[in-house]
Amino acid sequence: MSEHKYSKCTVEGDKKIKWICGCFQTVDGYFKFCDTHDETLKKAIQSQIDELDMTRIVEN
Ligand SMILES: [Zn+2]
Repeated sequence: MSEHKYSKCTVEGDKKIKWICGCFQTVDGYFKFCDTHDETLKKAIQSQIDELDMTRIVEN
């Protein structure tokens, strides 16, 4: 598995909301989740997106 570091994780000033566990949202609308919540929140977001019936782009 390739690892993608969040490019702005060292830029403290760009964080808009930060939670005590380590999750945060940046001023430009990106979310970064802590290790504890990463998997759970990704699954939750993906299931919400499926409920919204958004069309998936399949790239092969
Ligand atoms: Zn968290």
